[in-house]
Amino acid sequence: MNNHELLQALGLDGWESKQGTLISRSPIDGCEIGRLQEHTLQEVAHNIENAVQSFKTWRLAPPPQRGELIRLFGEELRAHKEELGKLITLETGKILEEGRGEVQEMIDMCDFAVGLSRQLYGLTIASERPSHRMMETWHPLGPIGIISPFNFPAAIWCWNFALAIVCGNPVIWKASEKTPFTALASAKLFERATSRFSIFTPHLLQVVLGGGELGAILVESPKIPLISATGSSHMGKAVAKSVAGRLGRYLLELSGNNAMILTPSADLALATRAISFSALGTTGQRCTSLRRLIVHASLYTEISQRLKRIFAHVTVGNPLESGVLMGPLIDQKSFEEMQIALEQARTEGGKVWGGERILQNQFPNAYYVKPALVEMQEQTAIVQKETFAPLLYLIPYQSFEEALTIHNDVSQGLSSCIFTNDVCEAEIFLSSAGSDCGIANVNIGPSGAEIGGAFGGEKETGGGRESGSDSWKNYMRRATNTINYAKDLPLAQGIQFNVETV
Ligand code: NAD
Repeated sequence: MNNHELLQALGLDGWESKQGTLISRSPIDGCEIGRLQEHTLQEVAHNIENAVQSFKTWRLAPPPQRGELIRLFGEELRAHKEELGKLITLETGKILEEGRGEVQEMIDMCDFAVGLSRQLYGLTIASERPSHRMMETWHPLGPIGIISPFNFPAAIWCWNFALAIVCGNPVIWKASEKTPFTALASAKLFERATSRFSIFTPHLLQVVLGGGELGAILVESPKIPLISATGSSHMGKAVAKSVAGRLGRYLLELSGNNAMILTPSADLALATRAISFSALGTTGQRCTSLRRLIVHASLYTEISQRLKRIFAHVTVGNPLESGVLMGPLIDQKSFEEMQIALEQARTEGGKVWGGERILQNQFPNAYYVKPALVEMQEQTAIVQKETFAPLLYLIPYQSFEEALTIHNDVSQGLSSCIFTNDVCEAEIFLSSAGSDCGIANVNIGPSGAEIGGAFGGEKETGGGRESGSDSWKNYMRRATNTINYAKDLPLAQGIQFNVETV
């Protein structure tokens, strides 16, 4: 199936030749997938008005009916898993297995949201006043702005979108400018679901194509009560400042710098598999990718040798081919940033293995690299920075306390893990004195989360929680209700206020 046929199968027949200014290139070979029209500032303003109108109707639909629409969307995703997965691979360079996995994550999220559509419940609360009842109700919030990154071009949107829709809110999606076709294809599948749905509500989903300046229009609009933005901490800081300036709400999922503590009691075979997947998967371009391996000094040489062998022999190449485990970096800038980081690591005393560009004869306009392993004696400045590439730092530790200190001594706080068979170490790691991250795992790697848990991190990762658990509350507003079924009006705190009534 060529690119034209692929887009056709996803309802985007001929879209690759729109001749606009937004060029989507495949990182696989640097070739153009197509050119699309970027939205104008006026069009985004119009999108916001459409969403405001759409909200007036959609908020009244009973939540289980909203869930039915997401169920239909899940059916479309199931029917087009292969094609959408391939398009994700084409636009991001992740291997096909991971492209399919991303669509599966969207399907799982739809299933979760459908169940949730019958569970948007609040508390009943004991009232201090006789014949009174207190309760919480959850109401739709309003139009939601979703800003998404290139590395999970569809799943992260879907985490937000599926919940926003069952919670009664229309969505405007500012997709990554690097992956516009994946956004359009996902929106087309949703459009097919709406055409099979009984309640006609236009503009439940509007896609905005273009750069950060278009995202900024959403961010600044008081008509968008919640901005959910995923990407770099740099972007998140700009978004937070702007949304806070209008006292809006933001939900931020930002950069990570994730670590594993490898202890003497760990099962090394298991740990090695976890390290390989979390450091090399998605070419090291997951927010949860493993970047720092904090290893007990007694294991340092052995684990370093094992990883050098794995990193040297992992199959890097065209991610559409079976057997390939690591595709290209997203673009030249990303390659250059990796090289700058490796150079700085050398300057700071690190020993670098791998990291060089490969396959440039076959793919002169694409950026394939050998994964890099960097032996550091301590956690220097470059180790504390997120470099979005397959680059793993190895840092030795002597005592468990020292390992925890190194672990938490970075500005990001997304995902973390420990490999140990010592129950005390595992419990300390998970305790309030342990990992300071939003995700803390034992004997599994930091990446590849399931949708059922709340996903997100602390510190410069932004503090947001999306996907499972009670993350749905982000997309609703809570009202506290007190109902009086007495014939008098007792006041709270026993206050007497005996006014003469006429
Ligand atoms: P990026 O910050 O360059 O872009 C993300 C999105 O923000 C894009 O759609 C972009 O157009 C938009 N944007 C940029 N500036 C903006 C502004 N001022 N106002 C509004 N929108 C703006 O990120 P990227 O390179 O696409 O993705 C990689 C980064 O995302 C990494 O740092 C990674 O760790 C992070 N990430 C985090 C999570 C998470 O859940 N914590 C998940 C995936 C990726």
